[in-house]
Amino acid sequence: MTKIRLSLGSAVVLGLRKARMDARPTTLYAMLGETCMGACRFCAQARDSEADHKFLSRIAWPEFDLDSVLARIPEAEGIGRFCLQTLLSPGLPQMLVDVVQRVHAVSDLPISVCMNPTVPGWLPKLKAAGVNRVGVGLDCATEETFSKIKPGFSWDRYHAFLDEIVDVFGTGSVHLIVGVGDTDEDLIHQIQEAYDRGCTVALFAFTPVRGAKLQLPAPNAGRYRALQLARYLISSSRARDEDMAFAEGRLTGINVATDVIERALDIGTPFRTSGCPDCNRPLYNERPGGTMYNYAVPLGENEKALAREELASYWEE
Ligand code: SF4
Repeated sequence: MTKIRLSLGSAVVLGLRKARMDARPTTLYAMLGETCMGACRFCAQARDSEADHKFLSRIAWPEFDLDSVLARIPEAEGIGRFCLQTLLSPGLPQMLVDVVQRVHAVSDLPISVCMNPTVPGWLPKLKAAGVNRVGVGLDCATEETFSKIKPGFSWDRYHAFLDEIVDVFGTGSVHLIVGVGDTDEDLIHQIQEAYDRGCTVALFAFTPVRGAKLQLPAPNAGRYRALQLARYLISSSRARDEDMAFAEGRLTGINVATDVIERALDIGTPFRTSGCPDCNRPLYNERPGGTMYNYAVPLGENEKALAREELASYWEE
């Protein structure tokens, strides 16, 4: 019997678990694969990680029979997407095609898959099975950081894979992590490059996980806000990386009309979770009561004011 793991929030939405939720997911998040052959330094699922393998970032992923999940997907309320995270494991591409076909057979939800580069030929098969978008954990903004953080993977192969994804699907999602060694300048150039390539960018905050190899602090909230604002302006074509000023790699200013920035801060959208449409990943990087790096729901007035303060503290430092 095929097994699949669900993020705890997704399991609650499907009625397979009971737990109190501060914010409901608007995408169902599932994970395929037993253990990962990769060795990404930040990841609880890496083959050499001593972290609890129940977790990915801050989220627990209990396991269920695929049949019981499929039976409940059509009834899920307030859900706009189904996302399958994948671990690099033997036989994954075929298993992925099978699971996607079965999800697609019971639901019209658009399906995202987050995966490592795979051999040519599988992307059209995934599309034919019902995949709508593919996301890639590039995670790092430079080849130098990538080679330290994702040993065994090829920077060039990841970029070639992104081009294959855009060829097949018309777009793709690039996942980037703030806080694993890249500067603001590195990250903003990579964000611009991703949009120029036809992809969108999902920003994550590095989340220290006990037992994972990489032990660094979580990023400063003000720095994260500045990068979210830059991503938002680039994604909406209101600015390009060349409009941004840097000092020793740190973002020091954005050369666009003040009212453009004011409007972005007024609506708070830059600080919402970024990624595929309807992806909100509640509490993926966040500790309840800690810094809300990616807001899963629209920001209230207090949260917008806090984001302004955090941003101002970074500019003034
Ligand atoms: S951006 Fe969200 S929905 Fe898209 S692949 Fe990443 S986690 Fe899944």
